[in-house]
Amino acid sequence: MPRSASGFPDEVDVAIVGSGPAGAAYARALSELAPQLRLAVFEAGPLISDPPGTHVKNIVDPEQRARAQRASEGPRPIAEAVSTDTMDDYASDQPTLQRPGTFLLEKTRQRASEDGLPAAAMSSNVGGMGAHWTGACPRPGDSEVIDFLPELTDWLGEAERLLGVSADVLADAPFADEVRKRLSVTLDHDRPRDRQIQPMPMAVRRTPDGQLLWCGADMVFGDATRTNPNFSLHAEALVTQVLLAEDGQGEQSEQGGRAVRGVRARDRRTDTEHQVAARYVVVAGDSLRTPQLLYASGVRPTALGRYLNDQPQLVYAVRMRDLPDLPPTPDDGVGVTASSGVAWVPFTDAHPYHGQVMQLDASPVPLADDDLAPGSVVGLGWFCAKDLRAEDRIAFRDDELDGYGMPAMDIHYRLTEADHAAIDGARTEILHAAAALGEPLDDTPPLLFPAGASLHYQGTVRMGAIDDGTSVCDPTSQVWGVHGLFVAGNGVIPTATACNPTLTSVALAVGGARSIAAAES
Ligand code: FAD
Repeated sequence: MPRSASGFPDEVDVAIVGSGPAGAAYARALSELAPQLRLAVFEAGPLISDPPGTHVKNIVDPEQRARAQRASEGPRPIAEAVSTDTMDDYASDQPTLQRPGTFLLEKTRQRASEDGLPAAAMSSNVGGMGAHWTGACPRPGDSEVIDFLPELTDWLGEAERLLGVSADVLADAPFADEVRKRLSVTLDHDRPRDRQIQPMPMAVRRTPDGQLLWCGADMVFGDATRTNPNFSLHAEALVTQVLLAEDGQGEQSEQGGRAVRGVRARDRRTDTEHQVAARYVVVAGDSLRTPQLLYASGVRPTALGRYLNDQPQLVYAVRMRDLPDLPPTPDDGVGVTASSGVAWVPFTDAHPYHGQVMQLDASPVPLADDDLAPGSVVGLGWFCAKDLRAEDRIAFRDDELDGYGMPAMDIHYRLTEADHAAIDGARTEILHAAAALGEPLDDTPPLLFPAGASLHYQGTVRMGAIDDGTSVCDPTSQVWGVHGLFVAGNGVIPTATACNPTLTSVALAVGGARSIAAAES
């Protein structure tokens, strides 16, 4: 794959906005299915790792890793290097809101009467949040599943291939089987077989020399994209507008309505703007910035930015006792440590929570005073599905710009009575699971993270079976009434999910890319 070229092409077939897992999935699937198409990915953030999109935790040198994290933190990076695990600081009174490699939404004008999303965050770098994530890739179940997509199971399987997902790779971490056994005894009795306790499918791979590495957008791009002579990646290239041909203007779509004709992109290194002609534009700029770019381009369907949902998240920790002696596991501080077993408590309609049970390392943050066997301290994270409402939304301002010069964002967001009931239910279930595993680390009750901390924002460009005003795109991810304009990422997911969304987003990207490839064959 050509490295970030300094010059933009004048014309491509498909312009992809954003280089996270969803944008990368379009590049990969189209490289494989329609290699004749000229593809360009435009990424607002810098190149931080090699190959492009590589997870920062695979960077061996800690200083270089910290620099890569800072470089991902948008227009105003935080000054201090902080810890790098989503569960770090889970037990403090003031949990860290901003995770390394992310930056908080600049203008969250939360209304005093609303809950808001104080922890809403983004990443700006080649690879997007996929260069900083934890890699948990569960399949959705029961009401999480999008029921009008007959091919979803097939797309999920393909997404697992693209993301390099494996349920086996961490399954034999120290005490991982003991964690699953203890959870299973208490939680499995009323669950269907495929939704019982099991190892978490993870986007983690083992190298031939035995090292465990995180998979990110580098894995999704893959060699098929990197060696595609028709592909180019442009870092520090902010797309400021999707260009459209309106009704009655030349390149109008065959069905009537509007059609894309390209993008306007700003080279952030030279502060120059360029127009790039394209027949298809895929906007994969995350759940906050994808609707932002549509808004800035004058594409403003009723549902744009609405049905915003974040998964309320509770965390708790226990220490397992009465464990067999195991030899110590080496921890070189790179990639995934061998004590990183993750068990999965799948969402079901009867237990509408997604449980993620992570064995925490004993270092570098001591969680208890005495010596701990790695893998014996277990963090439990329980995610709830939000009560979906059109009123929960991201709105954009015409009179104010954000740090990138795009329309500033306002969040309107409330937790409903149903949400509070779900959080109470999750609290009960997390304590139940914790009791099955061991004893609490201290007497702190389960901690509810601030809204937005899940980093799983969905619904803002949601998919629908029909164009009834409650969705932005059709089942192929094409925006209703705008030929050639596709949306991608977690914002496309229309259901209330509790499970980590990236696998589903990549699956929907596979479906969208296949529809473009089919139209071009
Ligand atoms: P992103 O990865 O956010 O990428 C979007 C990219 O688009 C960004 O790089 C951005 O700079 C770029 N962009 C935006 N607007 C423009 C524009 N106008 N022009 C050009 N470029 C633009 N998810 C899971 O499923 N499982 C997990 O275990 C998990 N753990 C996580 C842990 C952490 C610490 C973090 C930070 C995230 C985690 N996530 C997890 C979330 C996961 O990373 C995201 O769901 C995923 O990266 C979304 O992919 P995406 O491609 O849609 O968006």
